[in-house]
Amino acid sequence: MNKKLVIFTDSGDTIIDEATQVYDDRHIVQEASFIPGADRALRQLHEEGYTIALVADGEWESFQNVYRRSGLDDCFDAWVVSEVVGQQKPAAVMFETAYEKLGLTDADKSRIVMIGNNLKKDVAGANRQGLISVWLDWSPRYFHTVEEPDWQPDYTVHTPDELLALIHRLEAEMEAK
Ligand SMILES: [Mg+2]
Repeated sequence: MNKKLVIFTDSGDTIIDEATQVYDDRHIVQEASFIPGADRALRQLHEEGYTIALVADGEWESFQNVYRRSGLDDCFDAWVVSEVVGQQKPAAVMFETAYEKLGLTDADKSRIVMIGNNLKKDVAGANRQGLISVWLDWSPRYFHTVEEPDWQPDYTVHTPDELLALIHRLEAEMEAK
């Protein structure tokens, strides 16, 4: 059964542990490890029927390498990558590209959750779009203080398991409406 909630997710330090990325001489990521439990959570959400878009800054080839090699590339219904789009988050065009690829309109925004580790890119980008923003506060990298009003996440989780629980709760709340 299709879920009401639509999931947009960042990659680096949201699914992949950026500290483990191995680059080639073109600065393309060749391999990387997952945040513990993130690969399982991604697979589970996909199998439960959630529509999932990757909305990530970086090179197309890097993401292909990481997700193909781990056999998780089929978990994403859309790939939105800054190298291809031409701008990075929080640019609106990154999110607009995802709506377009998934056939979503303004009316769908209230049921889209954007998950990311970066308050300035992921959370602010989602908030400016009117999406549900979820901050995965797992990585020690980047910002940990809300420096601007629109960096304030709607929800904060610390592990992929906490994220799963939140997604299930939000979906249940939406279905009950
Ligand atoms: Mg990130």
